[in-house]
Amino acid sequence: MEENKDVFYLSEHFVSLQGEGNCAGLNSLFLRFHFCNLTCTWCDTKYTWVAASGQFQPYTSATLKALISAHHTEQVILTGGEPTLYRLDNLVVPGKKYHVESNGVFIPTAPLAVTIADGTAFRRERMDESVISHFNWVISPKLSNARQQINGQSLSFWAAKDYCIFKFIIRNEADLDEIESILKRFNIAGNKVYVGLEGQSLESQLKPALVDEIVSRGFNFSPRLHVMLWGAGRGK
Ligand code: SF4
Repeated sequence: MEENKDVFYLSEHFVSLQGEGNCAGLNSLFLRFHFCNLTCTWCDTKYTWVAASGQFQPYTSATLKALISAHHTEQVILTGGEPTLYRLDNLVVPGKKYHVESNGVFIPTAPLAVTIADGTAFRRERMDESVISHFNWVISPKLSNARQQINGQSLSFWAAKDYCIFKFIIRNEADLDEIESILKRFNIAGNKVYVGLEGQSLESQLKPALVDEIVSRGFNFSPRLHVMLWGAGRGK
């Protein structure tokens, strides 16, 4: 793919409720960006990055801003895939509130030049921090349960920022131990952490004993409302 100057690839866009994190329940416009730099085993949006698994459309910043403006929803969720492959600071429409769901591997205020696993190359300039610091960044580092590794440089960047929260998806108590060691290493306060349960069924989200453990360790609980309501349904 050519240098990504003013091209944004979207897998889909839709209005739903924010399912996870510190703003769960808000009526929101979702822009789901295509392509991801990771390959998490339990990814529930593999159609955004598995080669030939999904459709995607190119937009310019102007056409995307027109799309955002055309919707009544105040909240705009930039998700994926991995949205920081793109210049998100170019998508601001006055009066809208932006949230970014990112795996946190890329530092938005640094230029990016990366080739992802399927061979697609991305380049973008640095984002303007005076713009993106008004976004609600939901940084979701992947634990060993996703067969991915923590990126120390980028997590140090995020740990120093007051405009992000951290979201982790766990399977069991051992994952909570791993979270605690990450927080200690990067000096992240537990009250900035939201922990959700892995799975794509209502049953997978109803584990009160594990939620008790999340709370007793001083973390916030992140529901996964879209999973509870619609399971693995797409466009929700
Ligand atoms: S970072 Fe997110 S979108 Fe990318 S593979 Fe992992 S779970 Fe899927």
